Amino acid sequence: MTDVFIECVQGDIADQPDMDAVVNAANARLMPGSGVAGAIHSAAGPGLAEECQPLAPISPGQAVMTGGHDLPNRKVIHCLGPVFGVDEPSDRLLGDCYRNALRLADAEGLESVAFPAISTGVFGYPLAEAAKVAAAAIRDAAPGLSSVRRIRFVLFSESDLNEFRRALA
Ligand code: ADP
Repeated sequence: MTDVFIECVQGDIADQPDMDAVVNAANARLMPGSGVAGAIHSAAGPGLAEECQPLAPISPGQAVMTGGHDLPNRKVIHCLGPVFGVDEPSDRLLGDCYRNALRLADAEGLESVAFPAISTGVFGYPLAEAAKVAAAAIRDAAPGLSSVRRIRFVLFSESDLNEFRRALA
C-alpha cells in the first residue's frame, strides 16, 4: 500500500474538474432529482440519465459507474445512501457506499475520487454521524486500494466542512 491523500473542501460536487470521478448521492432509479443528483445530472446533460436507465434500480449501499458525459470527470459513481432510520443498519449501508465506490474506482484504475456527504440531505442522516461513518469507511478501504491516490470530500456549507475535517483528523 502507498499513501492515500484525503482532503475536504467547500464547493460543488459538479465542479471538480481535476478529479477522475465524482460520486453522485443518487436515488434508487438513478434519475435526476434535487441536491447532488440534480447538480450532477444538469452538468452532465441528458446522456447521463440515458446511460443510467438500464442500471436502475439500485439498493442502499450499492454503487454503479457510468461515464461523465458533459462533466469534466471521466466517470460518475452513483451510490444509493440509506434513508436515515428507515434503511437499516444505516451506518453499515452508508459505509458500504464509500467502500463500494472506492472499489469500483480502483478496479477502473482511477487515481482520484470526489465524494459529497451521501445521505445527509433529503435522506436525513445527521451530518456529524455521517462524517464519522465516512471517515471509518475510508480508513477501512484505503489499505486495499492500488490506483486510487486522492480522495476529496466536497461539502456544501462551512459547518459541514468543519464536521468532516474533525472526523478525518
Ligand atoms: P441524499 O439524498 O443522499 O441525502 P442530497 O443530494 O439530498 O443527498 O444531499 C447530500 C448532501 O450534499 C447534503 O449535505 C447537501 O447539502 C449536499 N449538497 C447538495 N448539493 C450539493 C452540491 N452541488 N455539491 C456538493 N454537495 C451538495
